Amino acid sequence: MKPDQERPEEYKMRLEIALKAAKICVFEVDIPRQAYIYFFNAWDIFHVSDEKILKDVSEFACLNPEDYQKAISDYFSHPGDQEAIDEAFRNIYSGLPASYEARMRAGGSSYRWCRIDATPVLQDGVPVRMIGVITDIDKLKQETFALEKAVMLDSFTGLYNKKRFIELSERILTEHQDQSHALLLLDIDNFKQINDTLGHQVGDQVLRLVSEMLREAFQERDIVGRFGGDEFVVLCRNLTNWEWLVQKLEAILCCGEVRGIVCTNSVGIALFPGDAANFYQLLENADVALYQSKQRKRAYTFYTKE
Ligand code: GH3
Ligand code: MG
Repeated sequence: MKPDQERPEEYKMRLEIALKAAKICVFEVDIPRQAYIYFFNAWDIFHVSDEKILKDVSEFACLNPEDYQKAISDYFSHPGDQEAIDEAFRNIYSGLPASYEARMRAGGSSYRWCRIDATPVLQDGVPVRMIGVITDIDKLKQETFALEKAVMLDSFTGLYNKKRFIELSERILTEHQDQSHALLLLDIDNFKQINDTLGHQVGDQVLRLVSEMLREAFQERDIVGRFGGDEFVVLCRNLTNWEWLVQKLEAILCCGEVRGIVCTNSVGIALFPGDAANFYQLLENADVALYQSKQRKRAYTFYTKE
């Protein structure tokens, strides 16, 4: 039997069962009246009844278009996704469909990542209604974030890994060529000996100690990474205070005692744009400076052409 031969209630029932099974929420808006006229299955995503949402948003109908848009955005979406919401409103009002991902809620519920697909219904070329579908993608999104984080970070210390550190640094050098930056390359002194005499586990403990020290020593805007083994890197951004840098360098040469052994580091520094025109040159020069420091240990050296 074709759907149009069925009784409408049966047709509606089957559709609603399918929507519930897929945990999909559907809504309809009367655009000229600024009124939500249908909301189905909000409970499965937001744990709020459809009736409550319809009642809540009916209070916004009398607002002027700008305030209405703001009230609806506040009610349903996270301020961080405002750009996507604004674009969706623009699309719908000009008769185009809109698809986007945003953190959504309904009134006071907690935010969940959702995908929203909305389509305007036109009458004589004018959008008069909008049908929207909300799909809960929160679990998927959280998994994606976790994966992205794992790809970006050194799993052992939680610092940026080599690949991500280079990507970020290259971007900073390209986008902020007018500012001064410093690349610090740090290598733990006699780390093999720590491993050999105290064991790998203690060696690991020292690696964590160094990463925590670097994280605490530098500012949030600076980029701290581990290139692998006992080699760490820091990109100090937008340097204006050289005294501050020297103080930090003094501070990171030693990270305390582990099982009676004083853990010290050697550091090589190269400056942008003075010493290098790009990231790889900067890294090469910091490495040359580190080699100088290693001759003495517990030392820092600024790269010089000589
Ligand atoms: P130098 O003072 O010249 O830096 O000498 P070093 O003994 O520190 O030698 P180097 O930096 O070349 O050695 C790094 C050592 O780090 C080699 C390797 O056995 C050890 N290592 C690399 N990754 C790990 C790790 O994840 N855990 C531990 N415990 N050791 C590691
Ligand atoms: Mg070392």
